[in-house]
Amino acid sequence: MCGIVGYSGLRPAVPVLLNGLKRLEYRGYDSAGVALQAGGDLVVEKREGKVAGLADALAAHPEAEALDGATCGIAHTRWATHGPPTEANAHPHLSKGRLALVHNGIVENHVMLRERLKAAGYEFRSETDTEVLVHLVDSLYEGNLLEAVTKALQEVEGTFGIACLSRHEPGILVVARRGSPIVIGLGEEETIVASDASAIIKHTRQAVYLDDNDVARIDGGEVEIRSLDAMPVSRATSEIDWSADAAEKGGYEHYMLKEIFEQPE
Ligand code: GLU
Repeated sequence: MCGIVGYSGLRPAVPVLLNGLKRLEYRGYDSAGVALQAGGDLVVEKREGKVAGLADALAAHPEAEALDGATCGIAHTRWATHGPPTEANAHPHLSKGRLALVHNGIVENHVMLRERLKAAGYEFRSETDTEVLVHLVDSLYEGNLLEAVTKALQEVEGTFGIACLSRHEPGILVVARRGSPIVIGLGEEETIVASDASAIIKHTRQAVYLDDNDVARIDGGEVEIRSLDAMPVSRATSEIDWSADAAEKGGYEHYMLKEIFEQPE
């Protein structure tokens, strides 16, 4: 289980996403990537190795100006479980250029889903279990990302923290969790999501922790949460009162203690 960061708001997304990934680096990872809504398209950039390498690639990108203007995006640091640590296997994964998705966790029924999606004409570009998720959501997408993600996850066995974007829904992020944490940081007309509070604390201390099988749609400062059976649910907002340094360690004195106490999850 590695790192997820997402942003929807009014500010440039890239610095928020890269800063968030850097705050998650302590967990260890083998590759990193981002997907941005830029100029009506989804632009994905990913790299083996460090977040600094990804930052350099973004700065040198031919569409760097459009990327700098993007105000909605998702980012990931991967710890490979299915497929080696290569650029092709790094997240985000794309489906038909219209959906992008990052995932922490393991899809247990990925073989069956992959066969079904291949038979339906989907081309797989990676060896990951994650790529089935983005194509599955795409196969159910009819213009409403929240609905498509909800339907898709009903078919998924295993664990996930995910963040997803559509080319056709500017400013909209959809996130969900089961057995892999997602925290939603509430700002002024903006929202920062992450797999760990340390990635949001620079921007806000107001946090909503998703429960298992929650799916949330984020549009700037607006957050709507539903259960996987599509019923509205409300989750309490809590205040993160740790320092940035303590937040990285989840309130524990040492990283080792944090890892030990996170084991049940
Ligand atoms: N199972 C996924 C993969 O191998 C996600 C790994 C992670 O949690 O970083 O790509």
